[in-house]
Amino acid sequence: MRPLWLLLPLCLLFLLLLSDYLIFDSANDLPPPVSRTVLLGFDLEEPDTDEDVAALLDLLEAHSASATFFVVGKVAEERPELMRSILAAGHELACHSYSHPQLTGLSEAGQREELTRCAEALQGLGIEHPGFRAPYTRTDRHLVSLLAGLGYAYDASYIEEWTHAPRAGVPGIKVSASFLPLTDYYWLYLLRSPGPFYAALRGYPASRLLSVDLHPRYVMRYPSHLGAYLAWCEEAGCAFLSHQELMKG
Ligand SMILES: [Zn+2]
Repeated sequence: MRPLWLLLPLCLLFLLLLSDYLIFDSANDLPPPVSRTVLLGFDLEEPDTDEDVAALLDLLEAHSASATFFVVGKVAEERPELMRSILAAGHELACHSYSHPQLTGLSEAGQREELTRCAEALQGLGIEHPGFRAPYTRTDRHLVSLLAGLGYAYDASYIEEWTHAPRAGVPGIKVSASFLPLTDYYWLYLLRSPGPFYAALRGYPASRLLSVDLHPRYVMRYPSHLGAYLAWCEEAGCAFLSHQELMKG
């Protein structure tokens, strides 16, 4: 008699095939799209591979979509060719700290070093006043003051709405005001139920942006989902913008 443990991989394979079938099947029955501005942001860190980023660039090009890549400064220094390929494809490069610590837990000197070194890495690529998104989206009043003083263009740690009167009360830099809904967690898990996911997006207040905050290494595990999302937005005539483009109006 065949050992029972041999059945386990077969059961897992069956479940995997079934789940892919269900995803595909339910994706044929999405609620109609709604026209919005779509703000695309990708955090680019050490585990993200050149291959994932290249595939993501191809996907964005296929949908004529502009995006912002918030890159860790150390990665920008170590992989300049990858950075140049992102810029050559017409996307924005912005800063995601130098080594991805939780910045709010650092001393002022530590914060300053992280922000200065990341800005320098991007300046080496010709970007004078980069935008910024904090690791883990953790910022505070002091960090925003530092960003303004160091010549950063904006803080997109919370990227639902932009405001000229930032919560931190710091003039000279734009700060986004409230938390965005569409992060890796939702992308990887809720997209397995596309119907409810898209229905929720449709129900989101009409004045709001549709913004995403994703990582290439996760989103490119399921590239067809991102393609479907972009196609859904495209069908409604949505504008895909980088953060820089949005701020320029
Ligand atoms: Zn990050």
